[in-house]
Amino acid sequence: MITYKSPAEFEKMAIAGRCVARIHEEVQAASEPGVSLRELDAISAKILKEDGCTSSFLRYQGTFPATICASVNDQIVHGIPGDYELREGDVLSLDVGAIFEGFHGDAALTYGIGEVEPAVQQLIEVTERALWAGIDEVQHGARVGDIGAVIESSAEPYGYGVVKEYDGHGIGRQMHEQPQIFNHGRRGSGVRLKKGMAICIEPMFNLGTDATRVEPDGWTVVTADGSISAHFEHTIAITRSEEHTSELQSH
Ligand code: MG
Repeated sequence: MITYKSPAEFEKMAIAGRCVARIHEEVQAASEPGVSLRELDAISAKILKEDGCTSSFLRYQGTFPATICASVNDQIVHGIPGDYELREGDVLSLDVGAIFEGFHGDAALTYGIGEVEPAVQQLIEVTERALWAGIDEVQHGARVGDIGAVIESSAEPYGYGVVKEYDGHGIGRQMHEQPQIFNHGRRGSGVRLKKGMAICIEPMFNLGTDATRVEPDGWTVVTADGSISAHFEHTIAITRSEEHTSELQSH
C-alpha cells in the first residue's frame, strides 16, 4: 500500500532519520581493524535508546536477530552483525533503520576499512553517485522508472552488476511500503510519485555479475560469484507539489 504522510508525520520520520545519521557517524568512526560487527551493533543499540527510537530491523519478520545490518565484502545486504572482526581492506556496508513514534527512517552506506583496492574504491564512489542521481529525479509527478533508469545507466559504463532481486521501497509506518523503487527501469514508466510519499532509494552494485544468493542463515544476501558489492540508501520525503528545487539539484 502507498501511504501519504502529513507534515507532522514527516517530522517524526525526520527525527528517526537524524538518529540513523548519528548511528552512521558513530559506527563509521568506530569501524577499524580488529573491531567486531557485534560491537558496532551495540553502539547502534545504545544510540537508538538515547534518541528515544527503536530498531526497524530487530526482529524484522520475527527473526532478524540484530539492531543493524552489517554486510562485508561479497555480502550485499542483510548481513547479521556477529563475531566477525573487521580487517584492513574490507568493504563494510551498513544499513540502519530507526523508528520514532511509529515512523521509520532508513539509510545505508558503504566504506572501506583502511585502504581498499582502487577498483573497489571506484565501485563505492559510483554506487554513491548513482544514489544521488536517483535522488535528483525525485519530485511530485516523477515516475519510479525515472529513478531506476538513471541508477541503471550510472553503472553501465563500468560494467557493474546492478542487483535486481532487492530494491528500494516506500516508507512510513512500515519500513517497507509500496511502491517498489527499482534500481533499473525505463524513464516515464511506473508509479507516479506524489506529495506526501516517502521513499527509500538504494542502489546495490557488484564488481561482478548481478546474480545473488542467500546464505544458510536465511538473511545474508551475497553475490553469486563472490565479487565485492556496494550499497547506498537514503530516505526521501516528497513535501511539495511544486517543480524541482535548487536544494535537490545541488548534489
Ligand atoms: Mg531500505
